[in-house]
Amino acid sequence: MNFAPWQRSVFEAAHGSLAEGRLGHALLLVGPEKMGKGEVAAILAKRLLCASPAADGLACGQCRSCRQFEAGTHGDFSRVGFEPNDKGDKLRSEITVDQIRRLGQWFALTPQLGGAQVALIEPAEGMNHAAANALLKTLEEPSPGRFLLLVCSAPGRLPATIRSRCQRLEFRLPAKEQAEAWLRSQGHAEADIGAALEAARGHAGLAADWLAQGGLALRRQVRGDLDAVGNGKSGPVEMAQRWLGDEQAALRLRFAADLAQDALSRRLGARPPEKGGLTAPGDFSKLSAWYDALNRVRGQLSAPLRHDLLLAGLLREWRTMLLEDRKEGVAR
Ligand SMILES: [Zn+2]
Repeated sequence: MNFAPWQRSVFEAAHGSLAEGRLGHALLLVGPEKMGKGEVAAILAKRLLCASPAADGLACGQCRSCRQFEAGTHGDFSRVGFEPNDKGDKLRSEITVDQIRRLGQWFALTPQLGGAQVALIEPAEGMNHAAANALLKTLEEPSPGRFLLLVCSAPGRLPATIRSRCQRLEFRLPAKEQAEAWLRSQGHAEADIGAALEAARGHAGLAADWLAQGGLALRRQVRGDLDAVGNGKSGPVEMAQRWLGDEQAALRLRFAADLAQDALSRRLGARPPEKGGLTAPGDFSKLSAWYDALNRVRGQLSAPLRHDLLLAGLLREWRTMLLEDRKEGVAR
């Protein structure tokens, strides 16, 4: 396993606690998205189940438990995440109380290999209210050898009663030099590293994801799209439909929000001007309100609403704001 530096420090902290016999039975692996939290949780789970772990804290990879874990057939390991809906055509957007009740029943079984039992819940913030309440019961009845690993990118969405019962393992964003060195070690081109880290606000995991998936190009495209709407070359309705037309919709809206936020920071002097950057509306309070409205649409993307209408409205507003700027001759 090639740990990223931030993964290694979390794993070593967990291993240290385990070696000293003070690893909690409920762990909250928490930190920003795309930092490989789930990966570390799985490595930890494999180690907790392993019959003869190595001195460095990793599972042996040879024993019966390790072989079953790798084959995905370990009876004492349970993964809880989003399940398919009743129609079976897509995943639910929340973890249900039934899933957590089944988990409670599973924990009551005798371990098949006679060792530990480990459950991994990801994303833990995906539990709905009833599910989180049901999990509390499990957390209140700890028993030796039973471990619960909660992987979470939005701890604010977990009830405090759950957070307070977990040992926290925190993933922290690396310093700039460390992030750059790591991206270099992943084989990314030097020229792209700076731009990707800048776009991802120093978040190396996200930058790596965008570098691998063409995220930077998409970001440039969104900037061009906003300019095209702003100067009347593209219509708000068709643009809204295009933005929402595929699985990149959420990322496009994120980039649009980031670009608006950058423009706001620039107005405040918190960021240097960007060459060839987005032409953003001159009115600070209007742009700020637009940014908030866009974030509300982002937050509702999973809800069954006519997002194309909402987004087209926002893009029309974007154009109006820029049109007013031109009328008033605002120089930017
Ligand atoms: Zn093993």
